[in-house]
Amino acid sequence: MRAHPSRLLFGSTPFGEGQEYLSFQYRFLIVVLIAGALATTVFLLGESTRLNRIDSPHVVSMAAFTVASLLLWGVLRGRPAAVRPVAWLYLGLCQLEYLSALVHVPQDEMRALWFLTNVPGVYLLLGRRTGAVVTALTVVGLAWINPRLSVPYSPNALATLLVGIVYQAIFFHVYSARSISYLQQVHGLNRQLHDLADRDPLTGLLNARAYYAGCEQALAAAACEGRSSTVLFVDLDHFKRINDTRGHAAGDEVLRRVAGCLREQVRHSDWIGRIGGEEFSLLLPRTSTEEALPLAERLRVSLEALQIEIDGQPIPVTASIGVATARPGEHTMASLQQQADEAMYQAKARGRNRVSMLEVKPGTGARVEREAQGTVFTALTPHG
Ligand code: GH3
Ligand code: MG
Ligand code: MG
Repeated sequence: MRAHPSRLLFGSTPFGEGQEYLSFQYRFLIVVLIAGALATTVFLLGESTRLNRIDSPHVVSMAAFTVASLLLWGVLRGRPAAVRPVAWLYLGLCQLEYLSALVHVPQDEMRALWFLTNVPGVYLLLGRRTGAVVTALTVVGLAWINPRLSVPYSPNALATLLVGIVYQAIFFHVYSARSISYLQQVHGLNRQLHDLADRDPLTGLLNARAYYAGCEQALAAAACEGRSSTVLFVDLDHFKRINDTRGHAAGDEVLRRVAGCLREQVRHSDWIGRIGGEEFSLLLPRTSTEEALPLAERLRVSLEALQIEIDGQPIPVTASIGVATARPGEHTMASLQQQADEAMYQAKARGRNRVSMLEVKPGTGARVEREAQGTVFTALTPHG
């Protein structure tokens, strides 16, 4: 099978979201490394066929430059983290190479133009501050070395060159500032789009689609480590009454406060989503039933203790919570949520404002229902 030429050149390096500029720098640097090696090779061929006479110190310098460029390509290929050090080394080598041409190839009147070619690379690969410093050093260095050359450039030619370098630097200064801020803007807008697609606008929690997608991965990751995960399904009690008696806006405020209360009490690694009107689901990865039940009870108590007042009138809130645990590899997110759903309906059936759990005994398929009394949990109806 033939490798694709671009893969041969750049390797198969994955770049994540937010790494667009790094990806550009990586590819740009590889192209410059290869182009530089090819250009010096052409000059070396010209010299070996006597088409283009070059003094021997510069021939050695060009040969070393070609080898170094190819070696740096080898170092960089597949290692985006090496962009900065390789860029520093390469652009430094370029300056030395151009200096060698300046000193050793006086018959080439145009050789000082090479210094112009370095400015864009420095700006794009090493940033604006380094670009400005390198530009200033190049300008001062050229002005200093010119009278010391065997055939100095005329003051007019030197001025043209230096103004050209400064002009190029200003252009790339503005261009790189603009393109980086443009990329950051696009990145920010992308994040906002993701948020709009994934979040419930009322509570700011994940919506059902994003919640289930994230949970599926978290559940699989926990199962790979041989750990159980637990779902808590929270459904507000008689929520319709709140809407009916206090209005829809009051209902919305209750939903926001409930979401805030739930969010405050779970770990950063837990998943929480609003999966229906007044229904919230939490996935606690790497959490057993015994660890999850006290948390579920704590959530229930906190919701009951919420002091929500609208127009000076309190709105009491309670919730029924269904708990279900998946032993490693035992459930998909959908079947685990289904079990938590059943447990939640048990809690409703037993009078609401309580935590209920459904356990299916492995092997036998026997179902055990448990319910919280304070933080003590009792098995209710073991049957098989
Ligand atoms: P139960 O204790 O059996 O759960 O009773 P309930 O009244 O909470 O259950 P039901 O499912 O009958 O009512 C849910 C209500 O939630 C119905 C719907 O009008 C309301 N609802 C759904 N989404 C929203 C919303 O975004 N804002 C408001 N204010 N109400 C909503
Ligand atoms: Mg409901
Ligand atoms: Mg309800």
